[in-house]
Amino acid sequence: MENKEKIPNVENVVIIGSGPAGYTAAIYAARANLQPLLVTGFNSGGIPGGQLMTTTFVENYPGFPDGVLGPELMDLMKAQAERWGTNLYESDVVSINTDSHPFELKTLEGTIKSNSIIIATGASANRLGVINEDKFWSKGISACAICDGATPQFRGEELAVIGGGDSACEEAAYLTKYGSKVHLIVRSEKLRASAAMVDRVKANPKIAIHWNTKVEKADGSEWLEKIETIHSQEGKGEINIKGLFYAIGHTPNTKFLGSKIDLDNKGYIACKSGRPETSIEGIFAAGDVVDSEWRQGVTAAGTGCMAALATERWLAEKNLAKTIVRETPEPEKKLNSSDFNEEEVNEDTFDSNSEWQKGSYALRKLYHESKKPILVIFSSPSCGPCHVLKPQLKRVIKELDGAVLGVEIDIDKDQDIAKQAGINGTPTVQLFKEKLLKKQWQGVKQRSEFKEAIKNII
Ligand SMILES: Cc1cc2nc3c(=O)[nH]c(=O)nc-3n(C[C@H](O)[C@H](O)[C@H](O)COP(=O)(O)OP(=O)(O)OC[C@H]3O[C@@H](n4cnc5c(N)ncnc54)[C@H](O)[C@@H]3O)c2cc1C
Repeated sequence: MENKEKIPNVENVVIIGSGPAGYTAAIYAARANLQPLLVTGFNSGGIPGGQLMTTTFVENYPGFPDGVLGPELMDLMKAQAERWGTNLYESDVVSINTDSHPFELKTLEGTIKSNSIIIATGASANRLGVINEDKFWSKGISACAICDGATPQFRGEELAVIGGGDSACEEAAYLTKYGSKVHLIVRSEKLRASAAMVDRVKANPKIAIHWNTKVEKADGSEWLEKIETIHSQEGKGEINIKGLFYAIGHTPNTKFLGSKIDLDNKGYIACKSGRPETSIEGIFAAGDVVDSEWRQGVTAAGTGCMAALATERWLAEKNLAKTIVRETPEPEKKLNSSDFNEEEVNEDTFDSNSEWQKGSYALRKLYHESKKPILVIFSSPSCGPCHVLKPQLKRVIKELDGAVLGVEIDIDKDQDIAKQAGINGTPTVQLFKEKLLKKQWQGVKQRSEFKEAIKNII
């Protein structure tokens, strides 16, 4: 993901958020020659690519008869937006100033001015706040079964999911691939999921549903070992589990707006019915941040399109659009271009100088023989944040001119290595020099953090 090299004085349109709504708005605005700037998000409100980065197969997005992996769908949207000239800016918007025009957006690094704004910041997974939640966060407790389910500590163990909606049911079913049994903890006596999903969960012999039950406390030593529960009639209970996954709904990502824009009583942006206009002229909104009801990839994309078309009209009407002139009517096709080898290497294909290789063979060889530091990313195929992080690490390695070598380990395939390395979630990155672990990171971090750590040991 690129940080924009040069930000002009006043943008035509800044799109906030890189989920289906944000990328669709970007594709439309870019094709209208408005050269949008899209702020991808970083720490606030999810991850770049949005909520679909945290799921496996999306089976209901039109155009993919065999389904498509969520992270792959988002990679495709991103590539399409970039191909038509969207500038991506990897940061969070911290606040916006709408008191004067052009609007001002404060990011983590500075201020951007823009004639119009499209807000597509989606919604974030809620936390419960049970006792010891922070202690066991990433040590047994997770908000993303799809991202973390494949970790070695969960294999063959009893696990639990909290929630009663579609996400909870989907996650419980998904986790039966890894756990010996999955407890679905439902605070009422009914599931709120679709009928098909409820049938699927009830028919699964590995899922035990605990009705009218709340989780009060997580417990264990280094890793989660059990939860204490309260049943509305039977009182306190305990369940021994090694993993607890939250699937308890979402909060719209509107905090950074303060009181600048009208929100509805649930905190979603209030737009005119069926339209993308917000309470401020020139500011539009799309996707889950305006939608507490439908909340789907395709509805988010649809409203992203509406927001971009409305923005284009508004800018033209106000005579504010500064369109770019293209040298060729259609930009070059870039799909499937990769600078790095994505195949797992073996004895015949291993190259001690290659900047990025995949698999346990490469790791063993480099770990024992390389004089250069090695950066190991532990990933899993369905981990959305891994899709975000990998291009960043590749860019760091390139910028350091090969002074460090990258290896990717798929923890689904190389479980023993993941266990030996103490991996308890993906993505995890470890930096080694001459067999010594120098630093470890979990989750998506800024490129500068990796660069600094590597420079310190070169
Ligand atoms: C587990 C799961 C499975 C799902 N499966 C399906 C499915 O199969 N089919 C389907 O159609 N839908 C599915 N959905 C729903 C779908 O993911 C959402 O409806 C859709 O992603 C909403 O898109 P969006 O663009 O509005 O927001 P999001 O996807 O939530 O994206 C929001 C973006 O805004 C960014 N952001 C937030 N705050 C800021 C800020 N302050 N500054 C900058 N950026 C910010 C975030 O980083 C993110 O990039 C699923 C959702 C989940 C959680």
